[in-house]
Amino acid sequence: MSVAVSRTDDGCRLHDGSTVVIIGGGPGGAACAIKLLQQADALSLRLRVVIFEGKDFGVHANQCVGVLSPPIEEVLARELDLHLPPALIKRQIFGYRLHGVRENVLLTGHGAHAGELEHGRATYAVERAHFDRFLLDQARELGAEVVEARVTGIEFVRAADLDEVRVYSESLYEKADVVVGAFGLDEAMLSVFEDVTARSGGRGFERPSKWLKSYLTTIETSARFQTEKLGHIVHAFLLPTSCPRIEFGAITPKGDHILVNIAGEHVTSRDLDQFLQLAEVQALLPGFDAGAINYYEGRFPSSPARRPFGHRYLLVGDATGWLRPFKGKGINTAIITGIRAAEVMLEHGVSERALQNYRRACTDMRGDYHYGVLVRRLMLVGARHFLDPMIDVGKVDPLMYDALFDAVSGHDTYRNIIKRSLKPRLVRKVAARLIRGVKRHRAHRAKRMPDLNVRRMTVRDIDQVLRLDEKITGKPHAAYYESKAAAYISRAPDYCLVAEHRAIIVGFVLGDVRGWEFASELSGWLEIIGVDPDYHGQGVSRALMDELFEKFRRAGVAVVNTMVNWNDGDLIDYFRANGFDRGEYVNLVKRFDEEEQG
Ligand SMILES: Cc1cc2nc3c(=O)[nH]c(=O)nc-3n(C[C@H](O)[C@H](O)[C@H](O)COP(=O)(O)OP(=O)(O)OC[C@H]3O[C@@H](n4cnc5c(N)ncnc54)[C@H](O)[C@@H]3O)c2cc1C
Repeated sequence: MSVAVSRTDDGCRLHDGSTVVIIGGGPGGAACAIKLLQQADALSLRLRVVIFEGKDFGVHANQCVGVLSPPIEEVLARELDLHLPPALIKRQIFGYRLHGVRENVLLTGHGAHAGELEHGRATYAVERAHFDRFLLDQARELGAEVVEARVTGIEFVRAADLDEVRVYSESLYEKADVVVGAFGLDEAMLSVFEDVTARSGGRGFERPSKWLKSYLTTIETSARFQTEKLGHIVHAFLLPTSCPRIEFGAITPKGDHILVNIAGEHVTSRDLDQFLQLAEVQALLPGFDAGAINYYEGRFPSSPARRPFGHRYLLVGDATGWLRPFKGKGINTAIITGIRAAEVMLEHGVSERALQNYRRACTDMRGDYHYGVLVRRLMLVGARHFLDPMIDVGKVDPLMYDALFDAVSGHDTYRNIIKRSLKPRLVRKVAARLIRGVKRHRAHRAKRMPDLNVRRMTVRDIDQVLRLDEKITGKPHAAYYESKAAAYISRAPDYCLVAEHRAIIVGFVLGDVRGWEFASELSGWLEIIGVDPDYHGQGVSRALMDELFEKFRRAGVAVVNTMVNWNDGDLIDYFRANGFDRGEYVNLVKRFDEEEQG
């Protein structure tokens, strides 16, 4: 039973027999209950935790896309000793495709590995109701009492010998030492809290003053369609030109259905209708009956609440408004604020002064707010002009690529993204793309020098080619290069070429036509190209590539692949100037050396 406590400092500490009432059993409320019960157990403290939840997660769901992004797995494991059951995961998300007006780019994370399953860096799509039920069941198992009823009122009673919270619901009445508002953006509860916390004369809680509205719909489809069309990628659309009210739209594969959602300060359900009709959106969806879709409405807070804690109360999750504008990661915020609230209550108590520590414990979450607002404003004003140039630069510049990935996935704070990427070099590149237009930045073609002859490579050329390679790399060649070059010539003689100037080999290229591997279509592969440094700028590589591409065309291939080190900006620029763009494949690496050390 809950005990009414006297108005001493000690009375504001949680003690044996204290009751904590949590209003809302979403991720914020459930995480808070789990942490409270685990930590109380460690302190040998008998704590009653009562969660009021109005929804039955077997039937109802909180509106959400259900993307769990890092570091959620790590937070659950480290802070709550919880591991996501595999059955909960509908699909692992490996990356995002960011769509601008004309350009788009596949963003798969640093070093091109967005998801490392069970290493805390993976992103998952889950069914939100299943996730909420999982967390609430964990709280229940630890001893939380879950009351399936909506709270209707709260009263803070402070009299000479009384200092307690009274909580009224559709069924039970509870007396508590502290109340945690984990009710998200429930209008009725926001009003109740604003009202009761202002009653003591001072200024009380004030709800977040700004929102982004969101509409979502689900489209049923086969897993096969998703594998072929979307794979494990979320498609993100920023400010689509023909739907001016939409700030952000997304298409998320969920295994047995696809979830489409839009968000913006002023969006309506009609904007979702329009978004679903965009050609680039329809290209990713199966056929559907536009007249028969279901609409779900939701909102994200986009500004912080005022005074989200006070004497014997605090708020967690959405109700605090401590979310990053644009990429909310609201579930993470809810869980983390829930955990920190529990820690502060147990460590410092539940008086207004004690709960100041809650604000301090969440400084990192609040610190990014102004940077997020800045990024959002910049995007609203200029995205239609500079998003395409940024995407274009991102395709060939790792710094911009990472900045785009981090902004879209929410892997890093806006503060860090701005600090890392606001470099004169990047600004110049984006400005140049903006001024010259995205497609016109190709390097000028060097004029081909006279007397340059491109012909097939023969085994007799191998010595000269390897000497040229040594001159280019400055390193002696490994012995196996000779047999490798010979193997290329015998396997794909048409695609191994040398460029000669007055009987001297000044350049070479080794290519091949292959398919099947990596499930790729039959394609041309440019394996190695080298040009004598004394002949740079004389059109040698261009002549070699022109001849090679002509042969590829004659072989009937439509695509040419090559591989370069992502950090070699000059080489990327060089290939870009010759018409190459960033492709769809991601190179995955397994390191034996690290494995052996580990
Ligand atoms: C369209 C949309 C898509 C989103 N997609 C994502 C996403 O993919 N990933 C992500 O991380 N975040 C996403 N979010 C944000 C995320 O849903 C929220 O930030 C998160 O759910 C907040 O958790 P919470 O615990 O604070 O509140 P909620 O999840 O809203 O939980 C509050 C709970 O309180 C209960 N409740 C309310 N009033 C009462 C009452 N009076 N009595 C008893 N119970 C009550 C409600 O039934 C509810 O279960 C999305 C939001 C929207 C609107």
